Amino acid sequence: MDDWLEHLQKADSAVAELVRKELDRQEYGLEMIPSENYASLAVLEAMGTILTNKYSEGYPGRRYYAGNKFIDQVENLAIERAKKAFGVPYANVQPYSGTPANQAVYMAVCNLGDVVMGQGLLDGGHLTHGWGTSFSGINYKSVQYHVKADGYIDLEEARKLAKENRPRLMWVGASAYSREYPFEEFSKIAEEVGACLAADVAHVAGLIVGGVHKDPAPYVHIITTTTHKTLRGPRGAMVMVTKRGLEHDPDLGAKIDKAVFPGLQGGPHDQTTAAIAVALGEALKPEFKGYARQVVQNAKALAQRLVGNGVKIVSNGTDNHLMLLDLTPFGKGKGVFVQDALEGAAITVNKNTIPADPAPPFYPSGVRLGTPALTTRGMKEPEMGLIADWIADIVKDSKDIMLPEDKLERRSAVKAFRSSVGKNPKVAEVKGQVTDLCKRFPLYPELR
Ligand SMILES: *Cc1c(COP(=O)(O)O)cnc(C)c1O
Repeated sequence: MDDWLEHLQKADSAVAELVRKELDRQEYGLEMIPSENYASLAVLEAMGTILTNKYSEGYPGRRYYAGNKFIDQVENLAIERAKKAFGVPYANVQPYSGTPANQAVYMAVCNLGDVVMGQGLLDGGHLTHGWGTSFSGINYKSVQYHVKADGYIDLEEARKLAKENRPRLMWVGASAYSREYPFEEFSKIAEEVGACLAADVAHVAGLIVGGVHKDPAPYVHIITTTTHKTLRGPRGAMVMVTKRGLEHDPDLGAKIDKAVFPGLQGGPHDQTTAAIAVALGEALKPEFKGYARQVVQNAKALAQRLVGNGVKIVSNGTDNHLMLLDLTPFGKGKGVFVQDALEGAAITVNKNTIPADPAPPFYPSGVRLGTPALTTRGMKEPEMGLIADWIADIVKDSKDIMLPEDKLERRSAVKAFRSSVGKNPKVAEVKGQVTDLCKRFPLYPELR
């Protein structure tokens, strides 16, 4: 028996038990939510250290508390590695997560009420890029660009909107977009209207550092990213300023620092900063290039086999780690049913809107899935083939269930479907195959 939870087990067996159950869920399921990954034991250890005990408001060499001799070195290490990994002259590694990182960019660049522009949420963009229910859409005048029917960003619309509305800040980057982000094209638009251009590479950061996705640094002023997605670090984020950004505004770095602290946050999470340093150290190793390459190869293999099995994919394929299944040929609003059926088979994905979705966003017609976590486990093209076949089987098996037109009936239909999943023989069959596959690719064997 392991002892990795020795003290927790003794002090609080209820929490220890839940952590063990979650480890089992992660181990015996196929994690295909494209924003998730498995951090290394080194990253996990750094997160679980006594660095959590320290207060260190401020920045290395200029703190508001004593005793930060070693914390300064930890943070400087993370900053230096971030600069190296992304080829930028400036990095702030303190944002608690992706959303506060983006908030810092608004605070550094805009005044309240300024015009900002980003990719619409229902078109794959992120809440923080100007969606109405987010601070970004509430506090700023948001203009949103969209994707075309073929799934690619409508650059003509983006240029037209930028010229008409003259945004102070423009975002390029997304959460559910399977093609390379057009940094160069956006840099031309930003130049034409004098906007500050920020790339939010939360999803593809690992692919950029691994050299398989275009590098935004030559084109944008600011780069933000989470550290827990393809970068495979702890939950956290960074804001970086490029050489181009410092040419645009020499004070941009200082403005970002001020926005993060004291603008939005208090003391940084030093244990997370240490884990970010560790993750960046891993990402700078040659092996990480192989990981990034395999993530994309796996996604392409998965997409190709799904299409071969008659499952439609938005834009008909992928350049990165994720894809959107377009389930409309089987009926509109099927995302939630397919998500739940797949969960029954221990394949974790998320329902997602597709471009011009005919169904409402809470009952979208798509499913988003990807390969970063499976690739971390060591799975390759042959496994993607098996998984694509299973997903296609389940999609087809759910073809008869339809989303009711009546709004009140919808909830009970989803509930009824959910409780039927446990009795579905196809789901049970796939679940058995998923378990066998997971046993061949053990996760965290050291913790067992
Ligand atoms: C995930 C994500 C974020 C936000 O990250 P949180 O850590 O969940 O706040 C921001 N932008 C994009 C594009 C993302 O995909």
